[in-house]
Amino acid sequence: MSFADLKLIPELQRAVADEGYTEPTPIQAKAIPAVLERRDIMGCAQTGTGKTAGFTLPLLHLLSPYANSSPSPARHPVRALILTPTRELAAQVSDSVKTYGKHLKLRSTVVYGGVDMPPQTKALREGVEILVATPGRLLDHVQQKSVALGQVEILVLDEADRMLDMGFLPDIRRILALLPTQRQSLLFSATFSDDIKKLANQMLRSPTLIEVARRNAPADLVDHQVYDVQAPRKRALLAHLIRSRDMKQVLVFVRMKRDCNKLARELVRDGINATAIHSDRTQAEREQALSDFKEGRATALVATDIAARGIDIAELPFVINYELPYTPEDYVHRIGRTGRAGMTGEAISLVSPDENRLLVEIEKLLKRSIPRKSAEETEPDRGRERRPRREPRDESHTPESAPRHAHRPPAQPRVSSDGFDFSKPYQPSESAAGRPPAAEKPASIRPRNSRPTAALLGGLAARDKK
Ligand code: AMP
Repeated sequence: MSFADLKLIPELQRAVADEGYTEPTPIQAKAIPAVLERRDIMGCAQTGTGKTAGFTLPLLHLLSPYANSSPSPARHPVRALILTPTRELAAQVSDSVKTYGKHLKLRSTVVYGGVDMPPQTKALREGVEILVATPGRLLDHVQQKSVALGQVEILVLDEADRMLDMGFLPDIRRILALLPTQRQSLLFSATFSDDIKKLANQMLRSPTLIEVARRNAPADLVDHQVYDVQAPRKRALLAHLIRSRDMKQVLVFVRMKRDCNKLARELVRDGINATAIHSDRTQAEREQALSDFKEGRATALVATDIAARGIDIAELPFVINYELPYTPEDYVHRIGRTGRAGMTGEAISLVSPDENRLLVEIEKLLKRSIPRKSAEETEPDRGRERRPRREPRDESHTPESAPRHAHRPPAQPRVSSDGFDFSKPYQPSESAAGRPPAAEKPASIRPRNSRPTAALLGGLAARDKK
């Protein structure tokens, strides 16, 4: 099937050809005709499936008769509203709207919290046909009367499950009350909890159900690896892996916001250009971190699950789980950042004994076991002969007081081929000491004492999720 078969207008076919897309992804093949028929949609799909184009392309098609170049705001009322849980996702969806709509005279803008309102207000007052927004900031604009939603024909709720997780349900209800009841509604969610079903029942009329497996199912294109490592050794192993595998772009996941900056700073001290993204950083800091990472100024981006949600980085080769997530679904979201668009990727998890239970849950969800390596396996010559025999896979009953490697002989010096000694307490490597000066490092995270701690922690401008 081609995009021409989907009967999209030529302007849109040109835009997708400009992007190099040759054929629609499965969700696009299903969603585009249904949206063009003005049906409501309940879509079960995650990022990485091509769902953004799946709703953006038909939406632009349906709105194309309204395209006009009049300067009058009255000629550009909001006709499509796309709600997303995070600013990063909002920005990305807005970029997609602009990319796919570049040959059409339709206006679009994006509004989200954490940045000044006046430029957003100005764009809204000038009039836009397509508005991408996070719920809280949209309501702020409604309250200030900078936007009216009475002519919305199409509503999209993207990553609805995450919106509910983040407590946006009351805001969503308020927004629904401002929209015409006669409208087309599309709801996308990676999971279908009872709450999502309830919301769908309230807002969708005989929806077409669309369910697609990930285009790049994790098991297919992503190479999963687990390193068994004691928690205090994780940081040294992480730095070692990044250096010895010559990783140029790696997304590193931790669970807690406070650990993001800490780990990024430690990596910088190890001579690895690193930056961090989490919800306590200001919008400007988050955008800076993301662009440093995307444009190659930062090798490692340390992120929390929420902050990384929706981040789209083409051809990201490595994801490292510095800590496993508490829910196995988050593992799938995390590794969904790699192995995209047909590229292969590697997902490496550093697993300490207390995380074995989480690993068992992840393997259950993936319906496969993940190959394990012990940290010593990074020693190419000696690791194999000394490695103890593997223990059974289900180690969830291993008492925490008896770590799995307790029976190993007392540590002999364990030096890898590049001189990394696993038996020593952590110290920055010598090469790290002579690494590039601060000016070459990403602006957001610098070695200790070069900026006030409060600024490093994002504490000067901590914000809520709006
Ligand atoms: P999404 O699931 O919307 O986040 O899209 C994931 C990635 O797939 C994005 O980088 C898109 O640019 C890309 N993409 C979307 N549709 C296609 C397509 N038909 N062919 C190739 N890549 C696509």
